Amino acid sequence: MIEIKNISKTFHQKKQAFKALNNINLSIEKGDIVGIIGFSGAGKSTLIRTVNLLERPDEGHIIINGKDFTQLNSKQLAHERKKIGMIFQHFNLLSSRTVFENIALPLELDSDNKDKIREKVNELLQIVGLEDKAHDYPKSLSGGQKQRVAIARALANDPYLLLCDEATSALDPATTQSILQLLRDINHRLGITILLITHEMEVIKAICNHVAVIDKGQLVSKGTLSEIISNKENPIIKQFLNSGVMTIPQELNKKLQKEPQDGLFPLVE
Ligand code: ADP
Repeated sequence: MIEIKNISKTFHQKKQAFKALNNINLSIEKGDIVGIIGFSGAGKSTLIRTVNLLERPDEGHIIINGKDFTQLNSKQLAHERKKIGMIFQHFNLLSSRTVFENIALPLELDSDNKDKIREKVNELLQIVGLEDKAHDYPKSLSGGQKQRVAIARALANDPYLLLCDEATSALDPATTQSILQLLRDINHRLGITILLITHEMEVIKAICNHVAVIDKGQLVSKGTLSEIISNKENPIIKQFLNSGVMTIPQELNKKLQKEPQDGLFPLVE
């Protein structure tokens, strides 16, 4: 359904070139929940942003349902993007609009039929469990509630694919679990394929059936969750499994920079 083919991307900054993605290949089947895991700076955000062409790759192709997105013009892309929802770490809600108005936003771009929009927003509020918050403003909501609003907004145009960019990284563990449960329900009940990026193995374990491990812009491993977890020989995977959360305390990182220990390697800033 989604083919990420030979994707490369180099950023140029202050006369320096940095290859953020290096020849990435990944296939995602309809109905899958695929997790891309990697350290900070590995290229996860860049990769997920190339899927809907928010970031244009220098090389390679993104083929979704047989259509090569890299060949589309901006008008065609805007049309295709309506069927791809996206949620972010910091929710990206408009503070001047109520919950209802935030969710209605994508619908208002295509229709002025207020009754139809109200009906759809009410349905979405029910899916995310926020029927009683319709007229509240984002500032009065918890982080988890804000992410629920963002999820409802992402579902407004009945997408077939939901891209999740560190969607639970700003949330506490209990709220993380409830948002992951909601994503699982959405995948199950609505048949929406989910592609998420995270630096936390716990998120991957909780929700993903397929996993891709990315490091320094390269895909270092991919497979089912059980294949990835059993691949303990891979130093990157070993490190994720050991740490649970894919961050290394600063002190340990400094130590590892001097001398790698027990298959652990330092994070390069
Ligand atoms: P991750 O999501 O895994 O933390 P990113 O995809 O955000 O990693 O970034 C990968 C690398 O590309 C980082 O070194 C980052 O600084 C660099 N990068 C990302 N976006 C840009 C940009 N717009 N301009 C320059 N460098 C960028």
